[in-house]
Amino acid sequence: MNKPEIIPQDDIAGPKARHKTTQVMVGNVAVGGGAPIVVQSMTNTDTADVEGTIAQVAALSRAGSEMVRITVDREEAAAAVPHIRDGLRKRGITTPLIGDFHYIGHKLLAEYPACAEALDKYRINPGNVGFKNKRDTQFADIIEIANKNNKPVRIGANWGSLDQELLTKLMDENTASANPRDARAVTREAMVQSALLSAARAQELGMPKNRMILSAKVSAVQDLIAVYQELARRSDYAIHLGLTEAGMGSKGIVASSAALGILLQDGIGDTIRISLTPEPGGDRTLEVQVAQELLQTMGFRTFVPLVAACPGCGRTTSTTFQELARSIQDFIRDEMPTWKTQYPGVEQLNVAVMGCIVNGPGESKHANIGISLPGTGEAPAAPVFVDGKKFRTLRGPTIAADFKALVIDYIDQRYGKGNKTPESAVTAAE
Ligand code: SF4
Repeated sequence: MNKPEIIPQDDIAGPKARHKTTQVMVGNVAVGGGAPIVVQSMTNTDTADVEGTIAQVAALSRAGSEMVRITVDREEAAAAVPHIRDGLRKRGITTPLIGDFHYIGHKLLAEYPACAEALDKYRINPGNVGFKNKRDTQFADIIEIANKNNKPVRIGANWGSLDQELLTKLMDENTASANPRDARAVTREAMVQSALLSAARAQELGMPKNRMILSAKVSAVQDLIAVYQELARRSDYAIHLGLTEAGMGSKGIVASSAALGILLQDGIGDTIRISLTPEPGGDRTLEVQVAQELLQTMGFRTFVPLVAACPGCGRTTSTTFQELARSIQDFIRDEMPTWKTQYPGVEQLNVAVMGCIVNGPGESKHANIGISLPGTGEAPAAPVFVDGKKFRTLRGPTIAADFKALVIDYIDQRYGKGNKTPESAVTAAE
């Protein structure tokens, strides 16, 4: 039998170098040109509801959304935008606001100059900016207003509202060609061309490249990957990544993570949005959490301390360890907005919550602080490890609360103002 080939470590590929793009400033946030990949989200409130929209933008921002898009679909919404911006600033929230325009964006931006001024970026969909002979003039009107206000735009093509004239033209050319491609390949090409032709038109109208971000969102994973790879291959515009209509719950999370994960690994993407459909009454901020976790688990950014937990198995004696893992994770996420200022660097923390002795001590030693709970047949004791060393053994009904207190102590001692070294933190606790 042939021996398996041993691959030298240097040949094990990591992520590709980031695709070089032109940097765009959206308010105070840099997108592209080597800047960290930006997390953004979108409200689902009626923008005319000023207080409701302020509350949701604030919640998304608090969850970690670095830019927030709001729908501007009618006059009442356009009139509300400056009040939303002012209300947020009064609360100390400077997260850039992006206006999402369809069909009548040119009219709303012209008739509501305070809206045009208050927004940090306009999103234009080249597929529905206008129809027939009006399309070019309405697109030009928006670009002119953006230029006048020094605002960037996102030219966002979408599979569901693809420019039908362009698609028909490409389909006709394809039919007449000697080697016609399948209709799906032609539609992918139309997506790419729709974004690139609109960007070229905006440049002819005087919009510089450093004020344009492109997207071409599709709902099928393989189409999305193909379209964005092509968009990146043919241009150096900053790129907004997102799988449109990703869906609800695990389906939306898996599909978005699969598609965006492959593109990010390929070096493509300067800002991301995870388009999850919330459960009825569900929390809109989940899409921000998923976007952050995708970037963090892939090693591109750090946002919150990560909790490693084993899946549990027949050796797990009770639900204690699931409850502890959940409670620690929720606690960390809830406290992060405060910790970010109080404990600089805390987002690098790794916590492990493990279910038994098989992998528990090993995994816990790799974390900053970890606990190995007792599995079936093990003594009712839970060793805690701090920075790779056995620190203490917890026993009795208060194991969960005691471990949480140790995590808080660790954070305070390592990242707090006194800033003791981890070793002194262990000694102090012992
Ligand atoms: S660490 Fe123990 S409880 Fe957790 S999955 Fe492995 S064997 Fe099961």
